[in-house]
Order: sequence, then structure tokens, then C-alpha cells
Amino acid sequence: MAEINKVAVIGAGVMGAGIAAHVANAGVPVILLDIVPKDAADRSAVAKGAIERLLKADPAPFMSKAAARLVTPGNVEDDLGLLADCDLIIEAIVERLDLKQSLYAKIDAVRKDGSIVSSNTSTIPLAALVGGLPERFAGDFLITHFFNPPRYMRLLEVVAGAATRPEAVATVSQFADHRLGKGVVRCKDRPGFIANRLGVTWLQAAVVEAFDRAIDIEDADAIIGRPMGIPKTGVFGLLDLVGLDLMPHVNASLAGSLPAGDMFHDLYRPAPLIEKMIAEGYTGRKGKGGFYRLN
Ligand code: NAD
Repeated sequence: MAEINKVAVIGAGVMGAGIAAHVANAGVPVILLDIVPKDAADRSAVAKGAIERLLKADPAPFMSKAAARLVTPGNVEDDLGLLADCDLIIEAIVERLDLKQSLYAKIDAVRKDGSIVSSNTSTIPLAALVGGLPERFAGDFLITHFFNPPRYMRLLEVVAGAATRPEAVATVSQFADHRLGKGVVRCKDRPGFIANRLGVTWLQAAVVEAFDRAIDIEDADAIIGRPMGIPKTGVFGLLDLVGLDLMPHVNASLAGSLPAGDMFHDLYRPAPLIEKMIAEGYTGRKGKGGFYRLN
């Protein structure tokens, strides 16, 4: 079985920064890339900023240990050459099929033979992600769906496609288990896999109920939080943590990939409340706050 000695994470947002920090903390060298404007004075600012945000949330000893192993060069376009010696390249960019696919073509042009590429997509089926890409790429590709926050959530959904090399699945599963401390669950290539196929349903139902029937957010979270086993956040607090701007992409992706007549198809329609909050910058903890204001 191949070894994973160096990792790249692309997309330094909520998930990418958290995954990169977690890998670094496990003692594995990792680079973190994001988009940077061409004229940016400091090309590493986006990735560094993302890690600094983590620093606030996490105890300093964790990050000081991790910092030595974490390189944050910055610009995906200019720094793609850095992927050449990476054994595992984790894509964690925005939940859009077109952007993910165009990035994969660029990754494939520079990565080494036998390297593994994975996506952190929440909902997009693997067959759609690799559609139109070379067979060699499909063989080395799988989905590694981390949960938020990546440091604390032990579950990792792994999805392999029809063409994925069994050895690539075994290598990543072993790495996730032994080095990252994750409990790996193999899922079929279905829209939303298991956790989001079920989990997004109640997130979306809560938003629709809050808007249509004026359910009180604090009351709902008091009931759905600890009493129903969702630590601390409840359902609306969880949406703030996830990032409200992710929801339209997730809903569109689920609605688009579910067959007509699926009982949940209608539920995933755009939610006016979420659209309004995003437009006003209330994207959750990463923005001005969300259902709950920031302290
Ligand atoms: P985010 O919006 O916080 O971050 C996305 C980052 O990707 C941004 O920094 C953006 O600049 C960067 N980006 C966009 N296009 C890029 C490109 N072409 N090249 C490089 N960087 C690019 O998003 P997120 O919430 O971290 O989600 C990332 C992925 O993880 C999505 O596929 C999402 O569905 C999935 N996911 C999210 C959560 C969650 O709780 N937020 C949980 C599990 C999975």
C-alpha cells in the first residue's frame, strides 16, 4: 500500500483550513492553497488568514506545533507546481461542479503518477465530478467528506467510484484512520451520500419552518440541541457553523441530482430567509454572524 507523506489542501475556507490544520497537527507536511488576486502584495495572505482564524478557536500549542509543518503559499494558479510531490491532494473549494472540474484538469496536469486526489464535496456525486476527465484521473479519485469542525468530528465519509483504484481507497482509509484519527464509513455514490442526504433534510426543514411558521430559533435549538444529542449548537447554530452561503449550493446540488418525484425534491428549493441573510453578510460564524450574533 502506498504511503501518504505529503498532502495538499486546495481551498482555505471553513473546511480546507480546518483539514490542513488537522493534517499538520498529525505531523504530516501539508500545503494550503487558495485564490489570490494577481496584484496581491502578500500571496500567502488568504491561506495565512484562514489559519489565523483557526488559531483564535484552537489552543495555541496545537497551532505552534502545526505551524512548522504547514506551508501556505497562496495562489492556486501560480503555485500548482507545488502539488508535484504531494501524495494526496484534497480539494475543498466552493460547492460548484464547474469550478471543481476545471480545477481537477489543472491538478491532473501537474500531479505525480499514483498520487490520489479527493474532494470534500458535501453533495455532488463522484460520477459527476469525474465526468469528462481522463480515465487515469478517475482511477486516482475519490471523495473524502470531512465534517465540521475537521479537528473534532471523527466521522469521515469515503466514496469510491466505479473506476477508483481499490488501492487508493485503502491508502486513504488507512491514512485517515491511523494518522488523522477518523472513523471511516464507506458510502455509495448517492447525492449527499449518507450524512447529508439525511442531515440536510432536517436543516432545510428547520429553515422553512422558521420562516413559514415563525418557529422560535432559540426554542428550537434548546430542544434539538443537547436533548436530541446535537452538542451545543442545535440546528440553527449548526447552520451558523457550517456557513449559510453553502446552503444554496448544497440545496441546488441535491435538488438537481434527485430524481423527479423524490419526496424531498421540493424541500430543497431556495429559502428566501437564507438568501436575504447571505445578501446582508450574515453568513454565519465566518461572516457577521448568522442566526446568532457573534459575541
Ligand atoms: P468556504 O466558502 O468557506 O471556502 C471555500 C474556499 O475555496 C474559499 O476560500 C475560496 O476562495 C476558495 N476557492 C474557490 N474557488 C477556488 C479555486 N478555483 N481554487 C482555489 N480555491 C478556491 O467553503 P467550505 O464551507 O469550506 O466548503 C468547501 C467544500 O467543503 C465544499 O465542497 C463544501 O460542500 C464542503 N463541506 C463543507 C462543510 C461545512 O460545514 N462548511 C462541511 C463538509 C463539507
